[in-house]
Amino acid sequence: MFWEIKTTVIGSYPVDVNRMELVQYYYSGKEVSWNKYISNAVNDMVNAGIDIVSDGQTRDPFINIFTRKLNGCRLRNRTEIIDRIEYIDPITLDDQKYVKNLIPKQNKLIGIIVGPYTLSESVVDLYYNDKKELAFDFAYALKKEIQSLQNHVDMISIDEPFFSNSMPEYGKELIDIITNNITCPTRLHVCGDVSNNIQDLIEISVDILSHEFKASPKILDVFGEYDFSQKICLGSVRSDNAQVETVKEIINHIKKAISIFGENIIQLAPDCGQRLLPRNIAFQKLKNLVKAKKEIFCQ
Ligand SMILES: [Zn+2]
Repeated sequence: MFWEIKTTVIGSYPVDVNRMELVQYYYSGKEVSWNKYISNAVNDMVNAGIDIVSDGQTRDPFINIFTRKLNGCRLRNRTEIIDRIEYIDPITLDDQKYVKNLIPKQNKLIGIIVGPYTLSESVVDLYYNDKKELAFDFAYALKKEIQSLQNHVDMISIDEPFFSNSMPEYGKELIDIITNNITCPTRLHVCGDVSNNIQDLIEISVDILSHEFKASPKILDVFGEYDFSQKICLGSVRSDNAQVETVKEIINHIKKAISIFGENIIQLAPDCGQRLLPRNIAFQKLKNLVKAKKEIFCQ
């Protein structure tokens, strides 16, 4: 088989933080240098043979990466919304530039955005009293973040785990705001069993749909019943358990998916972010994913 297919990640990667070092930084008043943690994650991805890497989202838990730097957010246990959500400055751009300089020329870079609906569902709203208005203001702010990233990354993934539980009627509009007039390719990642939401997902304006096809193989068959224009990022190893899939098992999974989607599969990835796995397990899963791809596609 010979069409172009790339191995990639969903976003996060395990981070071995040295807590003593963080405490020392804190008391010395210096800003923590996070580059070491980012480069550990990126080097693992590159060494495993992954084509399109991310920054590993090591810096902060997934929601705080964005809310920390937006106007209107106050960080507590959960972020509190105390004023209008507005974009101030680029949020992840410096890390993406750092990674771009770190990786070999043949590797590509994917920027990760946590979606507006997931942000609106994850915060404590003390200001808007209107979930929809809050979600739209997050969407306008994130659009500016993507505009700042699009010339520095090769593609952008929008991560909306909350779409799997309850996609609102304005869900499509939120993502369309973000992707409209964006020059680099876009991917929407939604975890979980999305078999009841597929009609809504395929109406969203993105280039690639990314789902947990390994943990929820049933969605393979359900997706097969729909016609859609997006390409597929195939979740091929699980992110929710530490058992490393054998190369053979991954090959069987990919081949089954090819029998349904054919050449519409253009990316192979873990099901979801790998942050909660032990680092050596996350690395081994990526390595086996790369080996499986090579066995299928390099013959
Ligand atoms: Zn996910």
